[in-house]
Amino acid sequence: MKKLSFLTKELEELEKSGLYRRLRIISSSQEAQVIIGKKKYLSFSSNNYLGLATHQRVKDAAIEAIKKYGCGAASSRLISGTMELHDQLEKRIALFEGKEAAILYPTGYTANVGTITSLVDENDVILLDRLNHASIIDAARLSKAKIAVYPHCDPAKLNAALKRYSKHRRKLVITDSVFSMDGDLAPLPQIIEVAKKHDAIIMIDEAHATGVLGENGRGASEYFRVEDTIDIKMGTLSKAVGGLGGFVVGSSDLIEFLRNKARSFIYTTALPPAVCAASIEALNIIEDDPERRQKYWDMVTYIRNGLKSMGYNTGASSTQIIPVIIGDEKKTMEISKFLYENNILAPGIRYPTVPKNEARVRLTMMATHSQEDIIKLLSAFEKIKQKFYS
Ligand code: PMP
Repeated sequence: MKKLSFLTKELEELEKSGLYRRLRIISSSQEAQVIIGKKKYLSFSSNNYLGLATHQRVKDAAIEAIKKYGCGAASSRLISGTMELHDQLEKRIALFEGKEAAILYPTGYTANVGTITSLVDENDVILLDRLNHASIIDAARLSKAKIAVYPHCDPAKLNAALKRYSKHRRKLVITDSVFSMDGDLAPLPQIIEVAKKHDAIIMIDEAHATGVLGENGRGASEYFRVEDTIDIKMGTLSKAVGGLGGFVVGSSDLIEFLRNKARSFIYTTALPPAVCAASIEALNIIEDDPERRQKYWDMVTYIRNGLKSMGYNTGASSTQIIPVIIGDEKKTMEISKFLYENNILAPGIRYPTVPKNEARVRLTMMATHSQEDIIKLLSAFEKIKQKFYS
C-alpha cells in the first residue's frame, strides 16, 4: 500500500516534540487497582468515580439484559433500534434528574454535538468558558454560530460579551459545571443570573458532576440549587454512572425537538441494551446509597488536604479531580513516570491540553480506593518532595 508521507513526517514531529501519545492496555476490569503488562497499578486516573463500572448489581443487570435482549441494538433509534430498555433508561434519567424528559445519545460527546448543533446556526451566538470540554468546542464550530469565548469562570466578562452580541437571534451560554483538568466548579448562580439578564439560553455540561455532586447526585446545579433555572442540562453515563452514553434532560418540548433534529441521535446505532440496563441499576444505586457519596467526599477532602499540607499546589480544585500543578512540562512527565514506577497510575497533563507552564499530574479518586491505597498515594508524593524538590 502506498504510504502517505505527510503522516510519517507529522508522527516524527510529534515524537521529537515529546507529544506522541501511546495507548496503555489494561488487562483487568476498571477497579481501583488495574493490571497493565502483568503488573498491578493503583489507578488514580479513572472516571469510574463511584466504582459502579464493576459493582455486582450493575454487572448482574447487564448480564440479565444480554440473556434477554442479546448484544446489539441493530438499528438507529428512529428506525427500529428503540428497545424497551432505551425507553426505560430515558424515563429513569428524567426521574433521577427531576425533569420532564430525557434523550439518550451514544456518548456524552455526541450529546453535546447533537444538542448544540440543533439549537443554533449562523444567525446565533454561542458563549463558551475558555476551559469548556472539547466536545462543546467541536459542537460550537460545527453549528456555524458565532463563537465568543469568555475568560474562565468570569461572569462579568460573560456579561460584557452578551452585551456585544445582543443583536444575534439566539444567545446560547454553555459551561462545564466541573472542569475536567482543574476540578474547579463554574460559578453557576452568577453565570445563570447574567445569562437570564440577557435572555440567553443556558446549557450546563454536568459530565463530571452527575452522580457525585449535590444532595441526590444530580450534579453541581443541585449543589448550587439552580436546577430550575437551567434550560438544558447535559450529563454522561460514562463516568460516575460507570457505563456509556450521554443524555440531555429538560422540558418535553426540548426533548421532542432534539429527537427530531439532533443528527448524532438520528444517524447512529442505538446503545446496546446491556449498557442501558447497567446504567438503570447504577442510577438505582446512586439513589439508594447516599452514604457511598458521603464517604467519597470525605476521602477526596482528606487527599486534597494531605497534598496541600505537603506544599503541593492543587489549584482551584474543590472536587474529585485534583490537579497537582507542577508547572514545568518535563518535570511533570518525570513525576508521572516516577509514580508509574511506583505502581501508581496518574497521568501527566501538559500543553496543549492545559496552558504552557501549567503542566500537572491529574488525580481522580474512586469510592473503592481503600485507606491503604490513599496512604500509598500520599507517601509517593512525600517521596516526590524529597526526590524532585530537595
Ligand atoms: N463533557 C465533558 C466536560 C467531559 O469531560 C467529557 C468526557 N471527558 C464529555 C463531555 C464527553 O463524555 P463521554 O466520554 O461520555 O463522551
